[in-house]
Amino acid sequence: MITYNYEIETYQREVAVSSYMETCVDIPKFTGYCRQCPHYRKNWACPPFDFSVEKLWHSYETLRLSAKKMIVPPELTDRTYEKDAFKEICSNLLVPMKQALLSELMALEAKTPDSLVLSMGTCDACIQCTRLNKKPCRSPDRCRHSIESLGGDLSKTIEHYFKEKLIWPKEGQLPEYFFLLGGLLIK
Ligand code: SF4
Repeated sequence: MITYNYEIETYQREVAVSSYMETCVDIPKFTGYCRQCPHYRKNWACPPFDFSVEKLWHSYETLRLSAKKMIVPPELTDRTYEKDAFKEICSNLLVPMKQALLSELMALEAKTPDSLVLSMGTCDACIQCTRLNKKPCRSPDRCRHSIESLGGDLSKTIEHYFKEKLIWPKEGQLPEYFFLLGGLLIK
């Protein structure tokens, strides 16, 4: 995997779960989006779930939001990529950032009693998720749900709490920056 030099900005904010739910959570809307995603029903971190998402949110008091913004080097944004090269460069940029944020959150979870990490995207702890073969999760201690899989609106969260804007890459072109957002639910 190629590594690049880039700047990372870190954002953190602690909010009451009740207020976060009111502002940024719409479970039916985001579950609807998840249904259209190739990971739906294929990864244990993704819907449908065998628990009440609403009850999960309500069983915590505080959400510590944690985001990283990667400023993509200009020499990578001023060109257009073929499909495979684009996939590869996005993965080279985003996978290390996701791993770094997830490790930070898991370390916080380990030292915060009764807390739960909210991850970014699907769980990719295994090469192939066991849900594809209808088998139980191989490592539930590593599987964490993302904010969006629990109905959280990432764009709204970033705008409302960090006064920033999420931008989506256009096919073949890298955006000026990427945002990853996770969190820690605390009782
Ligand atoms: S730990 Fe493995 S089996 Fe469990 S959700 Fe993650 S990828 Fe799937």
